Amino acid sequence: MTPVHGQLIYQGKAKRIFQTAKDDHVLVEFKNDATAFNAVKHEEFDGKGRINCEISAYLFEILEAEGVPTHYLFQADDCWMTAQRVDIIPLEVVVRNIAAGSICKQTPIKYGKSLSLPLLDFYFKDDALGDPLLTDARISELGIINTKQRLDIETLALRVNSLLKTFFNKLDLILVDFKLEFGTNKNGQLLVADEISPDTCRIWDQRVADQKDRILDKDRFREDLGGVLNGYVQILKRIQGVSSKPRTCS
Ligand code: UDP
Repeated sequence: MTPVHGQLIYQGKAKRIFQTAKDDHVLVEFKNDATAFNAVKHEEFDGKGRINCEISAYLFEILEAEGVPTHYLFQADDCWMTAQRVDIIPLEVVVRNIAAGSICKQTPIKYGKSLSLPLLDFYFKDDALGDPLLTDARISELGIINTKQRLDIETLALRVNSLLKTFFNKLDLILVDFKLEFGTNKNGQLLVADEISPDTCRIWDQRVADQKDRILDKDRFREDLGGVLNGYVQILKRIQGVSSKPRTCS
């Protein structure tokens, strides 16, 4: 069911953000659309919105329970999440535990290599520019965030990584890498925002040896491996298997 909502604030590739009766709350709708390679590739997967909303809700709850501030408030319906309204910082913050994706295209680091330490990459969130990788100097020059905010973002991103890596490991899942977005709420508090889902994470199945078959995330779509939704469902099922906390829909 679609919850009562106000005007559309933002239309993204995989989500839509709507106003609510409360000025400082928004409703996030998770769509079935999947895009890759800066939206050059596009397909719809029936049920993806619901699965990503569920997974995101669970993961945000885990983070909140560990004291990580996020925009998440509650899951309003199957594909809908109520969240704090934030001003999104136009950065994509990627944490990598194992080399995959762009780092393997841009450096000689081999696919599947465990990185000696979690590696943090900042990208400028700008589709027209193709979300370019940023350096510290470019971040300073752009003036998007100050030094304190950068340190706070780095600390939070690494804490999220440590918590989620441990959580997924208990489910026999490997957190290869993921992307976070951050925003500030009306009080200026820095929050983890957006979503955390198989669309934005690489997750491998520890129970499967085959390099392709073990992929449970959006790489199944990017690489035309088939079974995209099955991968996502597998992640959700394992999370549900250990989660005892019912979500509040108030
Ligand atoms: N990612 C994302 N949105 C983006 C780019 C990357 O959610 O616009 C995620 C991606 O799913 C992966 C991680 O960030 O989990 C690292 O992505 P990478 O830089 O390797 O780029 P990709 O190979 O996805 O183009």
